[in-house]
Amino acid sequence: MTTYDYDLFVIGGGSGGVRAARVAAALGKRVGIAEEYRFGGTCVIRGCVPKKLFVYASQFPEHFEDAAGYGWTVPQARFDWATLIANKDKEIGRLEAIYKRNVEGAGGETFQTRATLIDRHTVRLESLNRTVTADQILIATGGRPAAHPALPGNEFCIFSNEAFHLAELPKAIAIEGGGYIAVEFANIFHGLGVETTLIYRGTEILGRFDMDLRTMLHETMEKKGIRILCRSLSEKVVKRADGRLDVTVTGGEVLTVDQMMLAIGRVPNTESLGLDKAGVELDKKGAIVVDAYSRTSVDNIWAVGDVTDRVQLTPVAIHEAMCFVETAFKNNPTKPDHDTIATAVFSQPEIGTVGLSEDEATKRFAELEIYRASFRPMRHTLSGRQEKMLMKLVVDGKSRKVIGAHILGPDAGEMAQLLGIPIKAGLTKDDFDRTMAVHPTAAEELVTMYKPTYRVKDGARID
Ligand SMILES: Cc1cc2nc3c(=O)[nH]c(=O)nc-3n(C[C@H](O)[C@H](O)[C@H](O)COP(=O)(O)OP(=O)(O)OC[C@H]3O[C@@H](n4cnc5c(N)ncnc54)[C@H](O)[C@@H]3O)c2cc1C
Repeated sequence: MTTYDYDLFVIGGGSGGVRAARVAAALGKRVGIAEEYRFGGTCVIRGCVPKKLFVYASQFPEHFEDAAGYGWTVPQARFDWATLIANKDKEIGRLEAIYKRNVEGAGGETFQTRATLIDRHTVRLESLNRTVTADQILIATGGRPAAHPALPGNEFCIFSNEAFHLAELPKAIAIEGGGYIAVEFANIFHGLGVETTLIYRGTEILGRFDMDLRTMLHETMEKKGIRILCRSLSEKVVKRADGRLDVTVTGGEVLTVDQMMLAIGRVPNTESLGLDKAGVELDKKGAIVVDAYSRTSVDNIWAVGDVTDRVQLTPVAIHEAMCFVETAFKNNPTKPDHDTIATAVFSQPEIGTVGLSEDEATKRFAELEIYRASFRPMRHTLSGRQEKMLMKLVVDGKSRKVIGAHILGPDAGEMAQLLGIPIKAGLTKDDFDRTMAVHPTAAEELVTMYKPTYRVKDGARID
């Protein structure tokens, strides 16, 4: 029998790779993992975690404003970008060390290097100039922001990666994109006092989310002062003598900004990985093709997380990694379950959502009941803030199952996490109705919307 240096070698120390390495090592397997940049990956180093810290930072000006209605006099507040960056970096450094330590503590070996495949059992550790062999190999190399080579002046643009390390807070920024990363950063920069313009080629921001959430968030963001240009593209970016950028958008308008950020999608990290040498198949977008168990076209090579372009979220990468360990090392073939994933957009106000949007449900179900409430949350009564909250349940008219829940407003992400349980469990609207409300909360609305706001039959709305 061939003996290998490792039972498992993982390429990529992000959410999926670190989890698989740690859990497999804890089973007593001989595990190695290589990370070319920083352990923790996108989520910890330049994604979810620093982003959420920035979101918190950007919310303070509204908190200060709202305090007045509750009797507080808040002196003129000042913000220091350098302090935020330094504190964020310290926290990220702490988390990075924990991620690495957790793998090592479980008995895994960590390598700080880029790794590539030589063949189906051999990995080259580039900066160590060394090769190792492994029985099973897991590719968890994630993705990166999509470039925009067709845009003249794209070399002057930044991506989300750089947004976490800007030397100075810009006075004005343009952000191109309409997905959650673009929308979140638009709210972050606006909250920190930056004049912000969002440029999006589509008809409405946040495609695939429920249309009610999309339009209401759009309106609220505009009322706050974020400029949103839909059906619009940047056509060129020119660097001026004073260092600022002139961004020409559809229709010829020129926006003068300090930074132009591109958030137009993400691409899988599969280039120059040696995947061709091992015979691993890629799809048209360059993502690794896997079966339902995350196995690639080569039977000892597996892939999880963003590099497979299934659902690009941290908990999904982690879940896929756990299923991979069950399948490959515990003789318990387990398919990751991608159905009904609760998720949030940390916009301001926040979105929390789980299950089908009304539009999606209309395509799949003949009869729907829509329960919808839009109201001013209690905390805004004394603050005087005019922002409204939206709650919406999409119910299958026949089985009475709640098949979608959509929230816009404070703590929507927290609510979506909990709503994920009854919706995943297939509970009905009657179960929601039988549930006692927690009063006074905003969430109580979810169990007190007794009458449908309207019904949908064969695609047509019936009031
Ligand atoms: C700005 C932003 C905000 C986000 N916010 C959220 C959020 O709020 N909630 C959420 O659930 N998800 C969020 N995500 C998505 C989330 O970060 C990813 O889905 C998740 O990190 C994917 O995990 P992964 O293990 O597949 O890849 P990653 O975490 O990207 O890890 C891949 C790792 O592999 C390394 N690597 C690549 N090639 C090699 C190589 N050849 N050798 C060695 N190492 C290599 C990379 O350096 C990287 O560290 C966000 C992403 C971004 C960009």
